[in-house]
Amino acid sequence: MSAVAARENAAMRICVLSGGVGGARFLQGLLSVAAPEDEVTVIGNTADDIWLFGLKVCPDLDTIMYTLGDGIDAERRWGRSDETWSAKAELAEYGVEPTWFGLGDKDLATHLVRTQMLQAGYTLSAVTRALCARWQPGVDLVPMSDDRVETHILIDDDDSDTGQRAIHFQEYWVRLRAGIPVRGVLVVGLEDARPAPGVLDAIGAADVVLLPPSNPIVSIGPIVGVPGVAAALRATAAPVVGVSPIIGGAAVRGMADQLLLGLGVPVSASGVALHLGARSRGGLLDGWLVDDQDTPARDAVSAAGIHARCVPLWMNDPTTTAALAQDSLALAADLAAVGTPR
Ligand code: GDP
Ligand code: CA
Repeated sequence: MSAVAARENAAMRICVLSGGVGGARFLQGLLSVAAPEDEVTVIGNTADDIWLFGLKVCPDLDTIMYTLGDGIDAERRWGRSDETWSAKAELAEYGVEPTWFGLGDKDLATHLVRTQMLQAGYTLSAVTRALCARWQPGVDLVPMSDDRVETHILIDDDDSDTGQRAIHFQEYWVRLRAGIPVRGVLVVGLEDARPAPGVLDAIGAADVVLLPPSNPIVSIGPIVGVPGVAAALRATAAPVVGVSPIIGGAAVRGMADQLLLGLGVPVSASGVALHLGARSRGGLLDGWLVDDQDTPARDAVSAAGIHARCVPLWMNDPTTTAALAQDSLALAADLAAVGTPR
């Protein structure tokens, strides 16, 4: 019997594929219900990364690191708490672009350390380990890849010969607030990217693999798109359980709708599950949690070969977030007990 099915007997190895805010919030809940001896490895999305002002910015890795390390700004859910913005104001005085991306003064220090280490030849995973030595997030935070991968969004542009133009995901998300239609998503560099050291091992050795309610297109999508990762997920003996980021037909606290619509994925709990697919049928999921109000979605998900369960999916406070993490582990334990199809 695996460790997840025999919970009381063994430490568990939990592997989580995570984007930024949604993933970090879920991880807070997970750490509050995990046993101290459990090992949590987080494979973080790095396709949101961008070079700005000569600095390597890793929004999702930093959101996870600051959130779990208690350094996050609780209201914004990104960047440092008690932040000041002198450097940003000075850059604006010089007329330096872009002005739409904020790096606070404290946050800037993180980026100086990261960039300096990268330029000295360290890999992104080594740099992330070094940054986490300060923040002690309580998880092993591993970038999905040490190679440069960047999500670009194809938008309409009347001035272009083709009628379209690709912009960096951050420009689409932060400057345009995801307010215009998505005509395509290009994850530049993904095909040639290699999984970072530890990524495939963490999936292979896991007792349970969890997909938090992270953005399915730009957070989970790039991670499972790194060559080798999907195959590792299909091969692992661990159950793979995901949480719907869609409640009642809308992206919760987010702007994921345009991305889903742009790729023809229905904005629903079942639409996202079917997009990821059942592991028993060549996809990625064994189990899927949908919100209590999405009970009808359960049948469509089950029909696709994925075990679906209805539980409250809102992560409103530490109690509801912990309950959601517990429900994910419980579904994984039930699936492990019956044996997951591969
Ligand atoms: P990002 O990288 O900062 O965009 O964060 P993630 O990709 O990890 O997560 C973003 C997603 O989290 C959004 O698309 C939301 O649908 C989802 N989300 C945010 N809050 C909640 C919540 O309370 N419950 C659920 N189920 N999903 C949530
Ligand atoms: Ca992100």
